[in-house]
Amino acid sequence: MNLILMGPPGAGKGTQADLLVKRFGIPHVSTGDMFREAIKNGTALGLKAKSFMDAGGLVPDEVTIGIVRERLQKEDCRPGFLLDGFPRTAVQAEALRQLLDDLGIKLDAVVDIKVNRENLVKRLSGRLVCRQCGFTYNTETSPPARVGVCDRCQGEVYQRSDDVGSTVEKRLSVYEEQTAPLVDYYAKAGLLKNIDGEQEVDKVFADIMQALPVV
Ligand SMILES: [Zn+2]
Repeated sequence: MNLILMGPPGAGKGTQADLLVKRFGIPHVSTGDMFREAIKNGTALGLKAKSFMDAGGLVPDEVTIGIVRERLQKEDCRPGFLLDGFPRTAVQAEALRQLLDDLGIKLDAVVDIKVNRENLVKRLSGRLVCRQCGFTYNTETSPPARVGVCDRCQGEVYQRSDDVGSTVEKRLSVYEEQTAPLVDYYAKAGLLKNIDGEQEVDKVFADIMQALPVV
């Protein structure tokens, strides 16, 4: 199963990604991980990416595409992959299409998890993160047992600075602006699966499973 997973911050993408990779026995390929791994392995492209990142700039598309190419050719991607965080633009989507053509890989679906703006703001501005283990809580729906202390590791639980009110609104606007053309691109390609992310985790997952083609 060859998938792309999309959704705004706060849509529960991480949870669904975990469930999908378990179900299909495929790797979760996130852009961030790809960069870290390429850099760690000291590949030519990893070093190139690092030079851009060290200089404080964005990694150019051709470098990103090169890293995706390396990653998708690894043995563990044989049963498929779940791409997350890439592509981010329609230009990258077109480059990915060419890359997959080259590798003889067919993209099966692009899953887009939808949650309305108001709920995203509510979820994100209530989000708390453990400084130590990274586990997330929510002040409203799933607070830690003791205020400010992680249930799992006793680490400090805090609110990220980019999860605060106006910053949340801005992040969501940037996401919408950036991905609107991408959503159009995959809708036109007949690959887009719109999923209602306002439901319970299990129901969201069941809806995704139902939307996926049989391969
Ligand atoms: Zn913790």
